[in-house]
Amino acid sequence: MQSETTEMVGKNIEIPLTDTPINKIYDVVIVGAGPVGLATAVGLRKRGIDNILVVDQARAFRRVGQVVDLLPNGLKALKYLDSNAYEAVKAASLTFANSQQSDDGKTGEVIEPKPPKASLEWVSKNFQGQRVRSISLSFDTWLKKYGEGRVSISWYDLQTTLRQQIPENQVKLNHRCIKVVDESENECVRLDCVSDASVEANPYAYWADGQNNIQLQDLDSTSQSPIAKSFRAKLVVAADGINSTVRKLLYTDSPNQAFAKPKYSGFAAIYCSEVLDIPNELRSYIEEKFLSGSPIVTVTNFKLSSSHAFSECPRIMLINRQSIGYLMHVHVPLHSVQGKSGCDLLDLALQELEKADFPDTLKELVQLSPPENVRQRPYYIHCAAISENSSATWSAGRVVLVGDAAHGMPPFMAQGANQGFEDAMVITTLIANIAKNNNWDNKQAIASAFEKYERLRRPFMEYVQEATLTQFPHKSDQAWQEYSQEVYTRDFEQVSTKFLV
Ligand SMILES: Cc1cc2nc3c(=O)[nH]c(=O)nc-3n(C[C@H](O)[C@H](O)[C@H](O)COP(=O)(O)OP(=O)(O)OC[C@H]3O[C@@H](n4cnc5c(N)ncnc54)[C@H](O)[C@@H]3O)c2cc1C
Repeated sequence: MQSETTEMVGKNIEIPLTDTPINKIYDVVIVGAGPVGLATAVGLRKRGIDNILVVDQARAFRRVGQVVDLLPNGLKALKYLDSNAYEAVKAASLTFANSQQSDDGKTGEVIEPKPPKASLEWVSKNFQGQRVRSISLSFDTWLKKYGEGRVSISWYDLQTTLRQQIPENQVKLNHRCIKVVDESENECVRLDCVSDASVEANPYAYWADGQNNIQLQDLDSTSQSPIAKSFRAKLVVAADGINSTVRKLLYTDSPNQAFAKPKYSGFAAIYCSEVLDIPNELRSYIEEKFLSGSPIVTVTNFKLSSSHAFSECPRIMLINRQSIGYLMHVHVPLHSVQGKSGCDLLDLALQELEKADFPDTLKELVQLSPPENVRQRPYYIHCAAISENSSATWSAGRVVLVGDAAHGMPPFMAQGANQGFEDAMVITTLIANIAKNNNWDNKQAIASAFEKYERLRRPFMEYVQEATLTQFPHKSDQAWQEYSQEVYTRDFEQVSTKFLV
């Protein structure tokens, strides 16, 4: 059925809207085919909820995004969602298992470990080049400690692997959700999607070079005639990332307007892919003192004892490929990185290193960076901590936010996708309950399920975001142990029995 409607999209473009038949109502439409949206789809299908659709604005699945570490809590959540998806993700990951017998007595499937053995730990050093801490990258070491392993996988491989668990026709590309309308009369929500050539870059997730050319990650310049389409669903799970459109739609023009867009976290990254022409003496010194054969080493001022000062001190990750590059995390105002040239960024990096008393050798290395190789990326956050009487909840009616759309944050504790998988685990369990009791039209049951989700997840996200912003787990071995117990060792089977059924 073609509707007569026309929808105003973006900058005054009128697009004829193709409406789906009113009798076609999905149980769940998921907005966003990132890791969290797809994990939710996988979990719903596993629980027998097949009448679902995932829409994504991307024109094509392309190799974009960074490497993501999946830690024990994220892998446990994924296993709970669907053990086949868990196995597939492990098999597609970069580091998988040591070839020896694993601790549970089973022999892990042997996959060529990439990167090689030398990379099986991530070392942090002080200014004297002494090891202060090392984090194992081996699946089996984490398995032994926390009852589940850890893997690294590129965002694209994670997306592809999860997508392959779902029938192709349940994931629709080229559908950017632009509007969510409550259709109480039809006991559903209508989602309007558009496909046009003018998709904007995500301003909250990009690297910009010195000329402020954004490194586009999810766009394709293919010119296409705009089309628009509507879908109806009993429930909408919004997994559309940190720059979530659905979140903006929920909060804009409401008392929660301030929560519509992500806020600058106070931290930014300065990245140099390759430092050229490093004098031999300096190169040998850095290789011997800091890198010592590792592909990546973090150097920071471990003398700062208060967690506040520690988190605000710059950290430099030296990256040892064919040549040396680095990634620095700095605590600076947004205006000092945004729109700055490569030279300005280098000046800023050097000032920050100087302020934190970094050794001259590392300052010399940074000084040698070609400005054209230097990029910046501010990190944004949706703060989970809100005042008790705030009404900025993660759901409204039949719509619920998950993953980065709910609580996106800087990647310092490698928890974004892992926490998103925990969201997916909780929300699919609750939706499965709604399905089991045929409560699709019971607004009270839906509201209570979404409240339960938020009661369970928000306080934990506050904890994880605090750890991310203050870096308190890195203050001492004891702080690290406590954080690890809190985050990695939980038994989700128990959580689900206690809270979700
Ligand atoms: C440098 C860096 C390193 C990181 N390292 C780690 C790590 O080690 N471990 C970890 O757990 N996390 C890490 N993260 C965070 C992790 O990448 C995110 O938390 C995770 O990708 C969030 O998943 P998501 O599905 O919620 O959102 P996204 O991955 O952002 O996916 C959102 C999807 O929604 C689509 N979309 C957006 N808007 C719309 C719309 N209007 N309509 C339809 N579709 C839309 C997008 O195309 C995209 O496919 C890192 C992040 C960065 C930046």
